[in-house]
Amino acid sequence: MDTPTFDVAVLGCGPTGAVLANLLGELGLRVVVLEREPDVHPIPRATHIDEETLRNFQATGLIADLLPHTDEFGHVEVVDEDGAPLLVERIADLASPHGYTGSRFFDQPAFERILRDGLRRYDPGVRLELGIDVLGIDPAPDHVVLVARRTDGEVLHVRADWLVGCDGGRSLTRGTLAVSMTSLAPRRHWLIIDTLLRDMSDDAGLPRHFRYRLERARLSIFARGFGRNRRWEFQLGEHEDTPDDATVRAWLARDIDPERLQITRIAKYAHNALIAGKWRSGRLLLAGDAAHMMPPSAGQGMCAGVRDAVNLAWKLHRVITGRAAPDLLDSYERERRPHVEQVLRGSLFIGDRMQADDAFQRWRRRHLLRLLGAVPPLHALARRASLRRPPLRHGCFDPASSLHGHPLPQVRVHHDGRDGLLDDLLGYRFVLVIRPECVTRPLREWARAHDVAVVRPGVEFEEHDGGLLRFMRRRDLDFALVRPDRQIFGAGRVEDLPRVQAAFDARFVPVAPPPPVPSRHVLTDM
Ligand SMILES: Cc1cc2nc3c(=O)[nH]c(=O)nc-3n(C[C@H](O)[C@H](O)[C@H](O)COP(=O)(O)OP(=O)(O)OC[C@H]3O[C@@H](n4cnc5c(N)ncnc54)[C@H](O)[C@@H]3O)c2cc1C
Repeated sequence: MDTPTFDVAVLGCGPTGAVLANLLGELGLRVVVLEREPDVHPIPRATHIDEETLRNFQATGLIADLLPHTDEFGHVEVVDEDGAPLLVERIADLASPHGYTGSRFFDQPAFERILRDGLRRYDPGVRLELGIDVLGIDPAPDHVVLVARRTDGEVLHVRADWLVGCDGGRSLTRGTLAVSMTSLAPRRHWLIIDTLLRDMSDDAGLPRHFRYRLERARLSIFARGFGRNRRWEFQLGEHEDTPDDATVRAWLARDIDPERLQITRIAKYAHNALIAGKWRSGRLLLAGDAAHMMPPSAGQGMCAGVRDAVNLAWKLHRVITGRAAPDLLDSYERERRPHVEQVLRGSLFIGDRMQADDAFQRWRRRHLLRLLGAVPPLHALARRASLRRPPLRHGCFDPASSLHGHPLPQVRVHHDGRDGLLDDLLGYRFVLVIRPECVTRPLREWARAHDVAVVRPGVEFEEHDGGLLRFMRRRDLDFALVRPDRQIFGAGRVEDLPRVQAAFDARFVPVAPPPPVPSRHVLTDM
């Protein structure tokens, strides 16, 4: 490459960067993705994915390829030292507006490979450059230059209008911004043992669920993982060294003969709860672990990075195509930071309930968890505190609409002789979901000028079980203007429409419709 220029440079092709680049490609932007590693890491770090994140992955158009690399998650179970259950959390039963039920285990390396392959759909618009170490970032008022080195030593310069640092916990982008991370909790040390079952028949003797075991000496976690993957995690004291092989095997032997396992990795991790002081400065933005890091107790770190990507891609597109002023990008942090903080506190809430450093704390922990398991209202309260995902607020919305920042439910639909999920029909773009009788010619013209698709339930598609119409009827809605990330921008009765349009007009500039870009969107009626 000799100083090529791109709309966006994505630094890092972990889950956050890979999802972001797919979405930017779908929007027709010129993107370069720079990644140090020549291939995806073969051993998963993340094992759990929640239902909202599955929906967010769906926005890449790759969900049919991704889903076979997921497995049922089951429940979360907390057991005493002797294996007696104290509490069972039925994750799979959680009601969800996202069109998926409950969490799943997933195969991170397979996901990352599929996302990387997915970028080929946008060739030559999107370039994935592997084996390139970015050494320096030189921000200017109207562009950014990255200095990088290939594995063969060649140094190259890449110029882009915007840079999104998806470069993980040790982010060079964050360093360039000179932004520090604030810690929300003390760091804890864990030993993680990743294994593969040599023989699937041994699975029968292992717990069916994600299990926390509250041992006297230490807290431990067992996660089933995808396929043959089985993971154990053991909490370590602050100054405790990585235990020797014999100790590791003795710990595993409480559940299974270690000879039945192929141990693929033993790693000591410091689990952090960190959030960057600022996520944007000029043309540099942070996303994923570069912006925030979570202890894995609630399996939310990657999920949060993917939420960043779906929140940010369309905003970059609107700014780059002149449909919005750059300050639209400030709404990214305003919306995402409080959400990340809430999820982080939820993760910490779970982690804190499990911690116990002395005999009294252990006694209290056991009784509290038993109480939670036995008293449903208390259980519901704890569930809300730990798993709540707040609506997005204070960003790019019509604030007078009470539903702003809530997700549009995803339902199963029938369109053009085919069955599918609503989001696949809508695509990653703004959509006005509206009762057919409320659509006028001026409204259509407004929508066309703003690149908003108009979709009428019962006309463009039929619902399978009427969930969307029920949602609209219960909330007395004639319409919902929905952002590409499926968050409601504004909604209400037909008389509220001018107000919501005005809020939209205050943010976005209408432009002549661009020439049609080949797209995988099923609906073309605008
Ligand atoms: C043990 C463990 C278990 C976890 N379990 C879960 C879970 O169950 N669910 C969940 O949601 N999350 C989980 N997480 C968190 C999750 O793994 C991370 O949040 C997620 O990987 C972050 O993705 P990312 O793309 O933001 O960053 P990363 O995955 O760190 O990717 C950053 C990429 O940038 C590249 N890069 C960095 N600097 C440069 C440079 N200068 N030049 C070129 N390339 C560069 C790196 O090579 C890397 O590929 C877990 C984490 C750990 C450690």
